[in-house]
Amino acid sequence: MRIVGLTGGIASGKSTVSERLRRLGAVIVDADGIAREIVKQGKPAWQDIVEWLGPGVLSPGGGLDRSRLGDLVFRDAAARRKLESITHPRIREAALRALAEADRAGRPVAVIDVPLLFEAGWDKLADETWVVYVDPATQLDRLMKRDGLTAEQAKARIDAQMSLEEKTRLADVVIDNSKDPENTGRQVDEAWRQARAMAEQAGNGRHF
Ligand code: ADP
Repeated sequence: MRIVGLTGGIASGKSTVSERLRRLGAVIVDADGIAREIVKQGKPAWQDIVEWLGPGVLSPGGGLDRSRLGDLVFRDAAARRKLESITHPRIREAALRALAEADRAGRPVAVIDVPLLFEAGWDKLADETWVVYVDPATQLDRLMKRDGLTAEQAKARIDAQMSLEEKTRLADVVIDNSKDPENTGRQVDEAWRQARAMAEQAGNGRHF
């Protein structure tokens, strides 16, 4: 099975692209969705976090207070690493399980949708990497509109990430989402067609 690693920057259009791929029939392994799943109340990662930080990290319902946790790790690099050491191996394990399932089901291509594809080394798992790019002015504009942010708030969020320019240098395929959705859609359809053609040529050699 061939694996496509899909990433982008904040508000670059990754969700929009991934939704189109889903409609084309792609299996999408969604790292953010898995990350939310594995910290649900009672799961091993949830237990480890409560043991580490105490019940003060919980919201009244018993789930993790994500904004409190977010604040803590945003300010404290050691805490961030500790949280990652609890969550990352479990996210990876669940993603590999989903890939193995897609492979067993005979899917020729699967897409792993990961915001930190390059930063966290997920690209090594992929046979090819795609980046959803948008020009800086459009990115700022779409982020402000989508999340109701001021220009300063939006800039701070963009600047906290690896730049999209850098990601395009690392990627095998760049999908430019600066224009209208139809234009992006055509690029996605073509990249998907090529990935499937490559999978066919390679004869589904790799298994999980
Ligand atoms: P990401 O998942 O990368 O954060 P989204 O897919 O949520 O980004 O897109 C960011 C915002 O821009 C959303 O509000 C989305 O509806 C809008 N958007 C995405 N692609 C386009 C496009 N080609 N033209 C106009 N708006 C777009």
